[in-house]
Amino acid sequence: MENVAERFQHIRSQIRHAIGIAGRPRDSVQLLAVSKTKPATDIAALYRLGQRHFAENYLQEALAKQQHLAAFNITWHFIGPIQSNKTKPIAGHFDWVHSVDRLKIAQRLGEQRPAHLPPLNICLQVNISGEASKSGVSLDELPELVQAVRALPGLRLRGVMAIPEPETSYPKQRQPYRQLYQAVGQLNDPTLDSFSFGMSGDLKAAIMEGATMVRIGTALFGERL
Ligand SMILES: *Cc1c(COP(=O)(O)O)cnc(C)c1O
Repeated sequence: MENVAERFQHIRSQIRHAIGIAGRPRDSVQLLAVSKTKPATDIAALYRLGQRHFAENYLQEALAKQQHLAAFNITWHFIGPIQSNKTKPIAGHFDWVHSVDRLKIAQRLGEQRPAHLPPLNICLQVNISGEASKSGVSLDELPELVQAVRALPGLRLRGVMAIPEPETSYPKQRQPYRQLYQAVGQLNDPTLDSFSFGMSGDLKAAIMEGATMVRIGTALFGERL
């Protein structure tokens, strides 16, 4: 069994390798450590190795860990489903929210973002696999949502997040990311500079198709129980 330091080095070298093959600039992909279900001690261990960006899915769990780790200089990302009665603590305790999939949620996050903090960085979650069960706005609805969210105070719209259906074939992994990357390109808006694409199983495909943030849980922290 590898330890967290070995896994961290391994993921970082996989990211560097994929960036090289894609011919992209060296620091163009940020590693987000997805720490859901993992204890604050695991986050602290990775922090000591230099990791600063952490992502959480469950609000109560995240807030408890943040309290534990208040002395650490962590950038917190929220990547889980958002109920509208939970927007206030999310707006107050995170730097990024990747899982915004409707205007109402964006409006609330913007209104509830504390005035002493910089605008909240937002990615719109897009459902590119078209499964009815998964959250996310459709590609067709994306331009309208971008327009509306861009105008909201308290927020800084940065880009999109996608969680495609798991695929083991590399070309099939790349296809939905390519489609979404192109759709965002057609919006012709240079402020949309962030693509939250890729998890432990499709990291390379995501980086080949423009990911600027990869969300890695299992490959860093081990299996979730
Ligand atoms: C859990 C989760 C991840 C990390 O998945 P791994 O396969 O463990 O790397 C990434 N993104 C989201 C939205 C998640 O919920």
